[in-house]
Amino acid sequence: MASVILVTNDDGIHAQGLSALAQALESLGEVFVDEMTSARIACEGCGSVESVGAEHAYVQAPGIVLRCTHCDSALLVMTRTGSRMRIWFPRSRWLETGEPGND
Ligand SMILES: [Zn+2]
Repeated sequence: MASVILVTNDDGIHAQGLSALAQALESLGEVFVDEMTSARIACEGCGSVESVGAEHAYVQAPGIVLRCTHCDSALLVMTRTGSRMRIWFPRSRWLETGEPGND
């Protein structure tokens, strides 16, 4: 089973270094390069769908917590321990990247 790899950064997905990283990873699996603040996320708590950038982000904790702007459910939690990163979606139905309607 091939890996699915998402590559993103916080200052634009058209950076030359990001393209080089995506090319270097292609031998490991299917690589998606996407801008995450415009990705859409669906809340399991209230059913709303918003862009990731519109949700409340708490970044001063040991990890990052993204909470629903409507009902405060924890949508996404990221923690890092040494070289490992764990991402889970406690109250999300789905996360969608890419431009809507371009299929
Ligand atoms: Zn909600």
